[in-house]
Amino acid sequence: VQAAQYAVIGNPVAHSKSPEIHARFAAETAQDMQYARLLAPLDGFAATVQEFIAQGGKGANVTVPFKLEAVALATALTARAKAAGAVNTLKFDAAGILGDNTDGVGLVTDIVRNAGFDPGGKKILLLGAGGAARGVLLPLLECRPAQLVIANRTPLKAVELAQQFQPYLDASCELAGCGFSDVQQPFDLVINATSASLQAELPPIAASVFGPATLAYDMMYGKQATVFMQFAAAHGALVRDGLGMLVEQAAESFFVWRGVRPNTESVFAALRAQLLSG
Ligand code: NDP
Repeated sequence: VQAAQYAVIGNPVAHSKSPEIHARFAAETAQDMQYARLLAPLDGFAATVQEFIAQGGKGANVTVPFKLEAVALATALTARAKAAGAVNTLKFDAAGILGDNTDGVGLVTDIVRNAGFDPGGKKILLLGAGGAARGVLLPLLECRPAQLVIANRTPLKAVELAQQFQPYLDASCELAGCGFSDVQQPFDLVINATSASLQAELPPIAASVFGPATLAYDMMYGKQATVFMQFAAAHGALVRDGLGMLVEQAAESFFVWRGVRPNTESVFAALRAQLLSG
């Protein structure tokens, strides 16, 4: 019997760490599966998925720039994929193509379990209003923070995002959108979901948003601390990068496909060691 086939589909896809992460999960949980990289032509995402299904593919991760197209291709969506408006995980079976999104739960798992920070009743500042910010909103709101403020370079996008998520709020939580300069007060958790770190830029936020007990989380990761992490640490915050989010979103996808939860600790340690030596 052939091992179950999985893949990450993107363009570009050569940089993706998903094949290595899933190979480690499969070995650790003794699952008989293979996980490949599939480069889809920019105009050929659906065809690539259909061909993979025809060859016996059981599931796939979806990365740039196909996360929105994957929403349209899915025949059913999970609640968190619907809220995110993006799909990073596909599961293929007789019922059709299930579209899911594990990015948000990956972030929350990393913050709650790995960093030991409980967002319940806390004040959260989310920087950015793009795909990554949208993807984490529902899982963050499900932690029942007291307040969640979305701040963005283009303030209107943050205001609109906050409006769209009002239906998901319970009475004890306040959700608002604004520009960077509108936030001055300290927060318990500050999450950088902008792509500014990619260009080694800092979202222009006041240092007063950080206090000594603030956790500052950058969704980016790399060999060095990002400028956001450096700025936050210089103003007393605890800092964490997005490597744990990457590993935890993969673990959640693995669970969606295989019904087994891999241990993420050793995989995280291996990836961190590689990053530092790379
Ligand atoms: P998008 O392009 O959808 O959104 C980009 C966001 O960043 C927008 O809010 C944009 O503001 C803002 N922005 C861009 N440049 C700057 C800047 N110089 N200063 C301030 N704000 C800026 O990107 P995504 O949301 O998809 O991705 C954001 C980041 O999240 C990426 O760095 C990505 O690597 C990371 N990510 C990490 C994951 C992980 O597993 N660790 C998973 C998913 C994403 P405006 O609206 O004004 O244009």
